[in-house]
Amino acid sequence: MDEPVLAPGATIGILGGGQLGRMTALAAARLGYRCHVFATEPDSPAEQVCGAATVAEFSDLAALDRFAAAVDVVTFEFENIPAQAVRFVAASKLVLPRAEILEITQDRLREKDFLRSIDIATAAYREVSNVAALVRAMHDFGYPAVLKSVRMGYDGKGQVMLNPETKPEEAWRHMGGEIGILESFVDFACEISVIVARGRNGAWATYPPVENQHTAHILDTTIAPARIGPETAMRAEAIARHIAEKLDLVGVLAVEMFVTQAGEILVNELAPRPHNSGHWTIDACVTSQFEQLVRALCALPLGSVEHHSDAVMKNLIGRDVEKWREALGDPFAKLHLYGKTEIQPGRKMGHVTRLIPHR
Ligand code: AMP
Repeated sequence: MDEPVLAPGATIGILGGGQLGRMTALAAARLGYRCHVFATEPDSPAEQVCGAATVAEFSDLAALDRFAAAVDVVTFEFENIPAQAVRFVAASKLVLPRAEILEITQDRLREKDFLRSIDIATAAYREVSNVAALVRAMHDFGYPAVLKSVRMGYDGKGQVMLNPETKPEEAWRHMGGEIGILESFVDFACEISVIVARGRNGAWATYPPVENQHTAHILDTTIAPARIGPETAMRAEAIARHIAEKLDLVGVLAVEMFVTQAGEILVNELAPRPHNSGHWTIDACVTSQFEQLVRALCALPLGSVEHHSDAVMKNLIGRDVEKWREALGDPFAKLHLYGKTEIQPGRKMGHVTRLIPHR
């Protein structure tokens, strides 16, 4: 069934004020929409480009109420937004993707159980809720293995690599969560991701798989498209679409996957929002991941995901941002800075997409 269209001029509420919100707001502005950001800090990257913001804690129900009253539809740009805040807003305003999708992806165990329930392959995993359970699991899984906290993990936070020398008590402390998930280590040939967009009318579009290279667990470089065969690419896209359909997604979903040495695809993580590995779509595709999200939120038709250039996207992390002048010296490099004033190690300050146009 076709949903009523939210016409240009309407206001999109964004929970979270980071760079993903900023780039969503920029795409929305181009289509004539306003955005209003809910952020815990003033002068957030997203607020800087849309002007309207509620600055408060996610536990501040009066502020969430004011925010909901000021917008026509709501989305989120960060998966660790407290689920209670999202549920509270959803009681008075349409939130897309649905709050339940966010809740599944906030919990690594629920996420993996969901994937298993829809027959999507992942690394072998087991819940571990204390050191004794970790000792048993380490014995059963062998080495290397990875211990991750079930909640609040991103960019490698709350993650510990386990080898025969690892002391379980130390690993448990380092992981820092209340409940952990032990995964067998995947000796992958490459890491890829697929971004899928799904409209309110059920129409969908998938971008081609891209290849992701991490440094210290943080995305460093995305190569688009991934250097994989067409059959693997087709399988990866089909997996992403299957997951989006089973989640009844409206919006944008990133599916991170490992391609094993044997060519098997294992899903590692889901993010129900625009994703760092999709930034290349701004400069190289007919429609960016951010514009697709805006289109989906407002019940507009999705745009084409075709790319007119291949691309290599490099994150500017911490002091890398000081190389902005160098990036501008390359006429095929597109520089994106997020307006963050404080440089911190590991902080994503911007990115550069180098285009390789199809001739
Ligand atoms: P995650 O926080 O789960 O996205 O993990 C961050 C990065 O750690 C991934 O992109 C991989 O490079 C690496 N990693 C996570 N889990 C595994 C695993 N089970 N086997 C091998 N590498 C992993």
